[in-house]
Amino acid sequence: MGVVKDLLKGLAVTGRTMIGTISGRELVTRPYPEVKREKPQRFHGRHVLNRYPDGMEKCIGCELCAGACPAKCIYVRGADNDPENPVSPGERYGYVYEINMLRCIFCGLCVEACPTEAITMTHLFEMSTTNREDGIYTKEELLMRPDGTVPHMFPDDPLADLDELQTADGWVRATAPGGRAAYEGVQMWQGTPGSADWSPEPSQEERDRRSGE
Ligand code: SF4
Ligand code: SF4
Repeated sequence: MGVVKDLLKGLAVTGRTMIGTISGRELVTRPYPEVKREKPQRFHGRHVLNRYPDGMEKCIGCELCAGACPAKCIYVRGADNDPENPVSPGERYGYVYEINMLRCIFCGLCVEACPTEAITMTHLFEMSTTNREDGIYTKEELLMRPDGTVPHMFPDDPLADLDELQTADGWVRATAPGGRAAYEGVQMWQGTPGSADWSPEPSQEERDRRSGE
């Protein structure tokens, strides 16, 4: 009996969708991918390895992100900086950095663990590939360019959404010091080059005011 009920429920969904398609009712999936839904500021998408405004890499190869990752999908190998030509301001830098996106659960714990805000997440979620190798992002794809833009895995794909890569998540806002009112509207992270949006998240009061307008 339960199977028949489930079957009828499934057919009802199919019927509603077909009627909606014929009548032109707006369905979430219809305008996609040309039109995408707005994502929340804290959306967890593809990662990016950041640079300081002077172009130095923020990653110091400490491997804390790899240790925190519950999916064990980050591989980091640090190396000593050449004092004459350092890659990062620390003693070491991330010589090898890889994330296996096929295993990643986009929890953001790597971001939380990073002491230098080297790794953050963008709004890009479209990462489907036709082979497993392309699911492993190397430093080449993850590291922000010196001009602050973020490389796309498939820049020639006509559907590649480069804007989503330039939109940073608001992770620090979620973990800012105990939600203290004194920090409301204050930018809680170091400046990052590029077009990423690092402006402070509006306060709850401001959001309530806007939603009432
Ligand atoms: S988002 Fe979570 S699962 Fe993905 S790499 Fe970071 S810690 Fe690992
Ligand atoms: S991304 Fe952050 S936590 Fe991971 S190795 Fe680099 S500095 Fe350490």
